[in-house]
Amino acid sequence: MEDTIGTEANPLRVAIIGSGPTGFFAAEHLFKQKNIIVEVDMYERLPTPFGLVRGGVAPDHQKIKSVTKAYDRIATNPRFCYYGFVEFGTDVTLEDLKKHYHQIVYTVGAQVDRSMGIRGEKLDRSHAATEFVAWYNGHPDYRDREFDLSQESVAVVGVGNVAVDVCRILCRSIAELECTDIADYALDALRNSKIKTVYMLGRRGPAQAAFTNPEIKELGEMEVADINIREDEAELCKVTQAFLIDNPDKSTDRKVEILQRYAREKRSGKAKRLIVRFCVSPIELIPDDDGGVGKVKLVHNELHLNERGAIRPRATGKHEVIDAGLVFRSVGYKGVALPEVPFREDWGIIPNDKGRVLDAVNGDRVKGQYCAGWIKRGPTGVIGTNKPDALETVKLMLEDLERGVHLDPSDPEPEHAKTLVRERQINYVSYDDWKTLDAMEIEKAKGTERPRLKFTTVEEMQVALGRS
Ligand code: NAP
Repeated sequence: MEDTIGTEANPLRVAIIGSGPTGFFAAEHLFKQKNIIVEVDMYERLPTPFGLVRGGVAPDHQKIKSVTKAYDRIATNPRFCYYGFVEFGTDVTLEDLKKHYHQIVYTVGAQVDRSMGIRGEKLDRSHAATEFVAWYNGHPDYRDREFDLSQESVAVVGVGNVAVDVCRILCRSIAELECTDIADYALDALRNSKIKTVYMLGRRGPAQAAFTNPEIKELGEMEVADINIREDEAELCKVTQAFLIDNPDKSTDRKVEILQRYAREKRSGKAKRLIVRFCVSPIELIPDDDGGVGKVKLVHNELHLNERGAIRPRATGKHEVIDAGLVFRSVGYKGVALPEVPFREDWGIIPNDKGRVLDAVNGDRVKGQYCAGWIKRGPTGVIGTNKPDALETVKLMLEDLERGVHLDPSDPEPEHAKTLVRERQINYVSYDDWKTLDAMEIEKAKGTERPRLKFTTVEEMQVALGRS
């Protein structure tokens, strides 16, 4: 049975594209198999691993970032190999990988923002929240972006956890940020920030807000910012009340309770104000004299139950204009197509059946290719949600292997995959290289309150590794 795949003599060779939490969860599930020997090569476009844990999770949420310890453990498996700074589609192509692996798994997440589709959205000082998040987290592709923090009033559109992160970073004191791993340049820019008022704009009511309860509680505990909510907007409309009687939900009750308490308390006295609004939608960004955004025109919404039983917003005739010299839209992420890999532009994901990649046109299964995480199901859930999601995909991979449905690599020798990577990207970053960079970032922060000082350009990482 020399040809059996998954043996010591002929290990199952898997390429994972993307090194965020889902990629590591997929590797972990594969390595847990008792009867199959698996070798995993993980490809990552950036030199550094961990995806949104490094580039998305807010710097003032350091505890969440400690999940990387589990990924480090997975990476110690001798059958795991990390190829950082190797881009799928340019440095290595799908055709290349088909020669070296039995299965390929895409865990590339969802990198870009959705737009609001309103007039003025492209004005100066109107940005995607995703870019601001990547900027303050020191992502090399976004470190040179500029955000005009000399404005006094800012609007953040959307009431999901990303909107909450952005509002919190804008409202924090420097003392609160100085003990985080926020990028140095972002800390300097925020030091000079003139922002006094931050609006967070929800198009539906408090019960429908997408943020989670720990996040909204945290907004009430900031050192230099008061959270304000209008009492009338914190009330539940009749449609929502009826909906919650039919669909009781403790966590929604708790969320509404917290929001109504904030509304009653009418907090004041701190230097900054975070004003959370409900049932309002931006319909136009209005330019200032300098051509950049200066105001946001809002329409007030009422809520109704649609034919599918969901509560949706509907514009009333009532309008309002608020001052906002800086706007961040935080209305969801979406995925980006990978070269040669099926993609549904309208959904922003790889078409798939529980993780098996499907042809975008005829829906047929694409042999040997899989996906997991946000690129599979869209940008929902917390980091841990990706664990069962990756498991679902891995189970199907093993099922397919059992049935003999896999790629037939002509050259499954691991050293040959390494040779290919070396030829295409001489400066690729191994996991040991990453651990060197990691130790340097922590070392640089010694003597400060900060957990690490991040490298934020690929060049400085390469120089630190002794390459020119
Ligand atoms: P999200 O949770 O889907 O929230 C998107 C928000 O945008 C919703 O409030 C949505 O309102 C609103 N929206 C969508 N289209 C809009 C429009 N045209 N006009 C106005 N508002 C609009 O997405 P996210 O905040 O980007 O977060 C992505 C995922 O990451 C979520 O699962 C989130 O929980 C997770 N995350 C977690 C943490 C954490 O655990 N601390 C931190 C960051 C992100 P509707 O509900 O009305 O559509």
